[in-house]
Amino acid sequence: AAGKEVYNFQAEITRLLHLLAHSLYESKEVALRELVSNASDALDKMRFVALTDASQRDGATLEIEIRRNEEGGELIIADNGVGMTHDEMIANLGTIAKSGSLEFLKGLTGDEKKDVSLIGQFGVGFYASFMIADKVRVRSRSYREKAGHEWVSDGSGSFSIEPVEAMERGTQVILHLKESAKELLDEHRLKRILKDYSGFVSHPIKMADAQINDVKPIWVEPRSQLTAEQYTGFYQHLTHRTNEEPMWHLHVSADTPIQFHALLYCPPSSIERMGLGRSEHGLQLCTKRVLVQRECRQLLPDYLRFLHGIVDSEDLPLNISRESLQDNTVFRKIGQVLLRKIFDKLETIAEEQPEEFLKFWQQFGPLMKEGIASDFEHRDRIIKLMRFASSRNDDPRQPTTLADYVERMPEDQKQIYYASGFTLDVVRNNPNLEVFKQRGLEVLYLLDPIDEFLVATMMNYNDKPFVSIDAANVELPGDEPKPADEPKADGEEPSKPAKPEGNFGKVLTLFEEILGERVKEVRESKRLTDSPCCLVNPEGGVSSHLEKLMKMANQ
Ligand code: ADP
Ligand code: MG
Repeated sequence: AAGKEVYNFQAEITRLLHLLAHSLYESKEVALRELVSNASDALDKMRFVALTDASQRDGATLEIEIRRNEEGGELIIADNGVGMTHDEMIANLGTIAKSGSLEFLKGLTGDEKKDVSLIGQFGVGFYASFMIADKVRVRSRSYREKAGHEWVSDGSGSFSIEPVEAMERGTQVILHLKESAKELLDEHRLKRILKDYSGFVSHPIKMADAQINDVKPIWVEPRSQLTAEQYTGFYQHLTHRTNEEPMWHLHVSADTPIQFHALLYCPPSSIERMGLGRSEHGLQLCTKRVLVQRECRQLLPDYLRFLHGIVDSEDLPLNISRESLQDNTVFRKIGQVLLRKIFDKLETIAEEQPEEFLKFWQQFGPLMKEGIASDFEHRDRIIKLMRFASSRNDDPRQPTTLADYVERMPEDQKQIYYASGFTLDVVRNNPNLEVFKQRGLEVLYLLDPIDEFLVATMMNYNDKPFVSIDAANVELPGDEPKPADEPKADGEEPSKPAKPEGNFGKVLTLFEEILGERVKEVRESKRLTDSPCCLVNPEGGVSSHLEKLMKMANQ
C-alpha cells in the first residue's frame, strides 16, 4: 500500500487508551517493561525463524537497543527481531487479541479507580506506552519483506500507517515523552529501571553500546543461587502482573532419564474465580532456551491451566507442531515427571503449611476437582487433597480430609455422611443434622456446588459409600438395616409401612391426604430431636440440594 492510511482503533482500545492517557495512574516501569518484553518476544521469534530457516541467518546478534534523544524528548526501544508487516501492524497495534490486555478488558468495571488498579494487575501490553508518551511512532520491517512501515498515533481514537524507505529488519518504538515522563531521559534513572527488570530478558539490552543485563535465564541456574526476589521478579516478567507475588513456585532440574529444567508458578488468585474468564495455559516450552511454544496446552492436564512457567529441554526437537507434540516420547515423559512433582509439592504444602494450602485450595480447588473426572491416573492424589468443612467443628477454616474423616468414624459406621447447601448456615440448620450431632456422628458439609456431583461420581471412598443425610437410605450405626423392598409384581404399588396406632397414626394420614401428590409418603421419624418434622429424599431420588442446582442450571 502506498501513501498514508488512517484507521480507527477498535472501540475497546479507544476506551483503554482514554483510561491510560487520562488517569492519574502512571507507571514508567510498567510501560518500559511491556515494550522491552515485546522486543524480547520479537527476538525469540527471530531466533526461532533463523534456526529453522538457513536463509534467514545473517550472523547479526539479536539484541535490544535503548536510545535517548534528549533534544527531541524521545525515547526509542529498538530490536532486530521479526518485525511486522503492514497488515500485522493493523492487527497487532489496533485490535485486542492478546493475553494481558484481554484479561484487563474483561475485568473493566467502568469504575475508574478499580479499573486503574487492574492495569498494574494484568499489564496492558503495547498500549501501556501511552501512559508515558503523548505520541507513539512504531517503525517496523518484517523479516519477510523488503520495505517497512511507520505506524503513528497520539492515542486518541485513530492511527495512521505509511510506507518507509530503507529500513533494517526489526522494530523501533519511538516514544514522544509526556512532560511527566521526561525523567526517563535521565541516563541513570533509565538504567536503574531497566536493570531491575532486564535480568529476566534473555537477550542483550544495550544503551550507548554497553550491555546492561546478564542474559543467563534463571531457570537453568541452580536453586541455591537464586533469591526470593529473583523468583518473584521472573514471575512478574512472565505474567506481566507487576504487583503480584506468586503463591508458590516449583523449580525442577532433571538429568535422567530426560534432561529438562522447569520453573512453574502458581498465581495468588484464580482469575476464573474472579469471573474474568477461563485461564489460558501459561506454560512456555523452550528447547535450549529457544522458545518453541507459548501457551503450551498439551504438557499438563487442563485442570492445571492456572499455572505459569517455563519448561526447557535439550531433548526436544525445535521443529515440532502442536499436533505432533503429543506423539513425542520426550515431551510425554517430561509431562509425567512434572505432574508427579506438582502433586509432591502440593502434598508437601498441605502437610507443612496447612493454612497456605487452604488458600490454594480455596482458589484452585474447584479447577483441580475437574481432574477427578478426567484424570484417572491422578484421581486418588486429587482426592487426597480435597478439603471439606464438617460438623466436627462447623469451621470451614479447619476443614478435614476424607482420610481423616474415615479415621474418626466409629467402627460400625458404614457410610460417609454429607449435607449440601449453598452456605454454611443453610447446611447447619438442616433438621436432618440433629440426630447425627446428637449421636456424635460427623457429617461433611458440601458447600461448593460441584462437590455433590463429585461424590456422586466417586460413589465411595475407602469402600464407604457417600450418603446424603437427606436420603432415605442413610443408615445410622446400631440401627437395624432397612429391609430391602419386597419384590413386587408389575404395576403393583410398593407397599408403605403401616401407620402407627392411635392419634399419631391419624395425624400422619391427615398430612398425607393434605399434601397429596406433593409427597411420596409421610412417616414417623426416628431421626429428629428438636425439629417437629423434616423432608427426606426417596431412595434413588436426587437430593433436594442437587435438585435445586439442576433447576438453576436449566433456567
Ligand atoms: P502481547 O505482547 O501480550 O501479545 P502487546 O500489546 O504487548 O500484547 O503486543 C501486541 C502484539 O504486537 C504482539 O503480540 C506482537 O505481535 C506485536 N508486537 C509488539 N511489539 C513488537 C515488536 N517490537 N516486534 C514485533 N512485533 C511486536
Ligand atoms: Mg507484550
